Amino acid sequence: MRRNIVNLFLAISSIALVLGCFWSSERGNGTVDAEPDTAGSNVAAAPVSNTENRTAATKKPDKGDFVVEHLEVKTPRYVEIDKQVQSEKLLVKAADKLNRALILPYDIYLRTKDCSETNAFYDSRDHSVTMCYELMEDFFQTFKSAGQSEQVAYGKMFDAVKFVFLHEIGHALMDAYKLPVTGSEEDAADRCAAFINISELGDEGVRNVMAAAEAFSIESKRRGTKPNMADDHLLQEQRFYNSLCMIYGSDQKKYANILSDGFLPKERAMRCPLEYQRTVDAWVSLLGPWRKS
Ligand SMILES: [Zn+2]
Repeated sequence: MRRNIVNLFLAISSIALVLGCFWSSERGNGTVDAEPDTAGSNVAAAPVSNTENRTAATKKPDKGDFVVEHLEVKTPRYVEIDKQVQSEKLLVKAADKLNRALILPYDIYLRTKDCSETNAFYDSRDHSVTMCYELMEDFFQTFKSAGQSEQVAYGKMFDAVKFVFLHEIGHALMDAYKLPVTGSEEDAADRCAAFINISELGDEGVRNVMAAAEAFSIESKRRGTKPNMADDHLLQEQRFYNSLCMIYGSDQKKYANILSDGFLPKERAMRCPLEYQRTVDAWVSLLGPWRKS
């Protein structure tokens, strides 16, 4: 019988806990959700630390901060993990790094809570990013369902959550900065998460994108119903290939196995270096005016 996830959290205390966000299901009234992605103290800092500032002459006024709000957890099995998140100041550390890096036109709230749904989302009505404990639990179960050990599933859960968190941060930044989006916002948020992870976090970030890709793949195979073609998220199969394309495109030699092992077809793989570079160029340019020096 599968162990209660709270007990697992307590049992595997040696693994660093990092918070992030993401899964696919959109909600109305200003909420924009993600699919598996993440945000952790390390990840959150990444968006802004290394990227070149190409538009220093047009800096915007700084009128806000990322603000952490720990909401009351009502589901008993999430109480302990909530205490751990707070005691380790995971969101606080993430917010600090983001605040050191980015100018904001208003406050953006970062929340963890039980949501009664498996998701993570950005709400434009109150400028909040919410990471649901149900999503973390679902990731754990997803990796477990593929036959992976509890310890491996636990680690990948946090990796995938980091990707989701940055997907949600992508939504928040597109809204706050009124960024032009010439295409699907959901895909743009995925590209933002891939850009920050791969370009800014190196091997750790690549691991996060790989975990999200793996979750997409597992979920797509265990999906029992016909996919919702009207959903504004790309299909999980597409998000899987896009994630791998970003990794492969970032370094064809280092990640040659993605092609040689058949995870990406040659016809798509040959386009990935350009796809990746255009993603990087776009986000570097868009964030430039909002980066602190
Ligand atoms: Zn989204």
